[in-house]
Amino acid sequence: MTEPRHLDGNSVAALLQDVFGVDVSDHRGCCDHCGTVTRIAGVVVYRDCPGDVLRCPGCGSVLMSAPGGIRVGIGSLRWIEV
Ligand SMILES: [Zn+2]
Repeated sequence: MTEPRHLDGNSVAALLQDVFGVDVSDHRGCCDHCGTVTRIAGVVVYRDCPGDVLRCPGCGSVLMSAPGGIRVGIGSLRWIEV
């Protein structure tokens, strides 16, 4: 049995809590590319790309990436409510 290739934003909740200092799973973020506003738990997470890549559920743009450690790169994330 193979693991699913992608998960939801809950799969990176602990990492994002370490980075932002709060659990942002239920907080909203906005995609700069298409304007979709979604809860962070609703983003699409691809594992081992390498690291994790968080994509917009509306258009697939890379919102954030987590290459490893306690570090995230901001891609097309216009804003996030914290
Ligand atoms: Zn989008």
